[in-house]
Amino acid sequence: MKIVGGKWSNWSGGVTSKPKQFVAPKDEVELAAAIRSTTDTVRAPGSGHSFTPVCACNGMIVDLAAFTGLKSVDKEKMTATFGAATPLWAIGPALLKEGLGLINMGDIDRQTLGGVVGTGTHGTGYKLGSFSAAVAGFKLVTANGDLLNCTPDENADVFAAGRCSIGTLGVMTEITIHIRPAYKLVEKNFLLPPDELFANLDSLVKGNRHFEFFWFPYADVAICKSLNETDEPAPQPRSAEAMHVRGEKGSSQEKTFAAINAVLPFAPFLLKQTHALFSQLMPGAPKVRWSSEILPSPRTVRFNEMEYAVPYAKGPDAIREVVAKIRKDRINTGFPIEYRSVAADDVWISPFQGRESATIAVHQYRTVDTQPYFDACEAIFKRYEGRPHWGKRHSRTSRDLPAVYPEFGRFQELRRRLDPEGKFLNEHLRAIFE
Ligand SMILES: Cc1cc2nc3c(=O)[nH]c(=O)nc-3n(C[C@H](O)[C@H](O)[C@H](O)COP(=O)(O)OP(=O)(O)OC[C@H]3O[C@@H](n4cnc5c(N)ncnc54)[C@H](O)[C@@H]3O)c2cc1C
Repeated sequence: MKIVGGKWSNWSGGVTSKPKQFVAPKDEVELAAAIRSTTDTVRAPGSGHSFTPVCACNGMIVDLAAFTGLKSVDKEKMTATFGAATPLWAIGPALLKEGLGLINMGDIDRQTLGGVVGTGTHGTGYKLGSFSAAVAGFKLVTANGDLLNCTPDENADVFAAGRCSIGTLGVMTEITIHIRPAYKLVEKNFLLPPDELFANLDSLVKGNRHFEFFWFPYADVAICKSLNETDEPAPQPRSAEAMHVRGEKGSSQEKTFAAINAVLPFAPFLLKQTHALFSQLMPGAPKVRWSSEILPSPRTVRFNEMEYAVPYAKGPDAIREVVAKIRKDRINTGFPIEYRSVAADDVWISPFQGRESATIAVHQYRTVDTQPYFDACEAIFKRYEGRPHWGKRHSRTSRDLPAVYPEFGRFQELRRRLDPEGKFLNEHLRAIFE
């Protein structure tokens, strides 16, 4: 957790908080006592990688550093239980030692398990669900200090809702997650002109275990990336410590990317050239690695992001409309748009609830005002029945969210039952849930 001078801040620096108190309980008994002891707002951040103010708090911020590490593995049920605050960079190596791996991961491994489950964080893969969908059970300390064990058979409604609940039902202390035998992936990158990409998109998505593309909106090609299982040899797996260090180290390419992004807002005439250049530079040579080392990449250039999940079949039209809008309005951004696919799930307010989805993410350098770009995109996403990523910028509230989340009312009822005083709600979450 990043605390400087009594202030908590998120990864992008866009959200800061000066809470009345920080507490660092060492076990569930101390955690329950801390939650019971206050009438102020309580938030329990993971590693602060959300762009929305989900962790903002002027009351009590709970540091969950004591709730980490691998607790147990069940090789028959293919599940593993971790302390909820375990960072993803430690999970890959811990599972690999047991000959096991996570089913999927997103772009980075800096987040905690509680954080990725809390917001429905996802990677890409037509048949692969989000982290929330992979949860088999969890332990939750609620607003009144009760410790609930939540599985499909015990506290089943809290299990169904709590797998993606933005920390509004309580604090998870342990999470059990579905896993699989360890596996290696071969990554291939290639460029495609948009017409060819969209003509073949469905088969690219369905024909690869993982497929995504990045499109610098002023470029005439998109950078495509596929990952598939392989038995080819891979370098020796890294230790958890080495994975931790790897994710914090910026490459020279990233440093150039940051420098150009700092200049671009003042040099819009360079947009087309830089987008063409970035597209040519980005694709790397094919490589084989263990899944936990190749699915996430280091991301050291700080930015803010908005992402929406739209129905899978509507994804291509939605992204083409976004790119057309950027070009028409000459919107200035130095980042590509990221396009991925995610399987449907049954988690009440997961962005993927009941529908297979395409996700479309737009980014803006950390010092650049996101409003003109993100507002324009959000208007388009809304027309495509888009559901916001809970950890990424959006402006949605309880007024319009029930229209896109069929189980929203049910979630609100359960949340009120578990936390009638709204102890786990800050201003941002109150606008969403009240
Ligand atoms: C560089 C970068 C890359 C990203 N890539 C992806 C990606 O590929 N795919 C994607 O979907 N998202 C991505 N994200 C978004 C990110 O995965 C989510 O915002 C995620 O929630 C961050 O995890 P965290 O541990 O930092 O949690 P935080 O942001 O600190 O917290 C997120 C939420 O989880 C809750 N929470 C955390 N721990 C617990 C707990 N133990 N019990 C109850 N609630 C808890 C918090 O209260 C909060 O509401 C990315 C973000 C960044 C900055």
